[in-house]
Amino acid sequence: MKITNKHNLPQTIVALASREFYSKGDADYSATEIISPPRIQRLRKRHYDEIEQDVSEMLWSMLGSALHVVAERSVIPNHVNEERLILNVNGVRLSGAIDLQHEQPDGVVISDYKFTSAWALMNDKPEWEQQQNIYAYLVEKVKGKKVKKLEIIALVRDWSRREAMYKANYPQAPMQVIDVALWPLEKTEAYIIERLEMHRDSKVSADWGDELPPCTEDDKWIRETKFAVKKEGRKTAVRVFDNQQEADELLATLPAKDKGFVEIRKGEPVRCTGNFCGVNQWCSQYQAYLAEQATTETQE
Ligand code: SF4
Repeated sequence: MKITNKHNLPQTIVALASREFYSKGDADYSATEIISPPRIQRLRKRHYDEIEQDVSEMLWSMLGSALHVVAERSVIPNHVNEERLILNVNGVRLSGAIDLQHEQPDGVVISDYKFTSAWALMNDKPEWEQQQNIYAYLVEKVKGKKVKKLEIIALVRDWSRREAMYKANYPQAPMQVIDVALWPLEKTEAYIIERLEMHRDSKVSADWGDELPPCTEDDKWIRETKFAVKKEGRKTAVRVFDNQQEADELLATLPAKDKGFVEIRKGEPVRCTGNFCGVNQWCSQYQAYLAEQATTETQE
């Protein structure tokens, strides 16, 4: 990966950003790799030397690494910090670096630190649940210890005291402990095997030069199209609907003097369009989406 320095930050910061704090050790896959879509993983591997990232955009990943280094220094009885576990699953070495294990007489509590946004805390994050359950599986299988609880220690990057006062569901503090559902071991095992097979198949496709498996709608973080009923001269919508019919029905009830109209807020695959996967320029699936959009716009 090429690290750029567009904002002329000191070399100390650039050197820190260039350091790899995370390694999956002597393993084929890490827990975070197998929960990620195979297409993204393969494209990242294929184009690793071409991917560019600016130091200025690495603030939160650097702070994340810093937190792990500081947390490692904390010594509390029965707290195990930053332990890497590796397990052989059907001939594949799977690893997980667990931030914190609190060993209690009736089982282990696994905690994971996450720098995250307030929005993320107000919405589902299935990948947190998947990752934490893989860790639980590793602890049970490698250390032979029962896991009794999973949790995320969320550090909310954009927390606002004002929003906390007025918005429903908004996190009430900038640091929160979030409970995560603990799956039965059999469910986690089936999930791990399924994901490992998906990644193995996509590696074979990549090695043979075949088309990679497509990202699913969930993988692409699809934002659905919305229909906002608005009034002329008013910034915010009267109401936003998931379908045109309901929007049209409300519009029909507005007095003519309001000059109401329906604004279509087109849905999109946010992970692709925002390049949150980091590989959209090499992705044939995304290029096909762009071509389709261009054709639709020409027809409209
Ligand atoms: S651009 Fe979209 S479809 Fe392509 S790898 Fe990224 S997330 Fe998947």
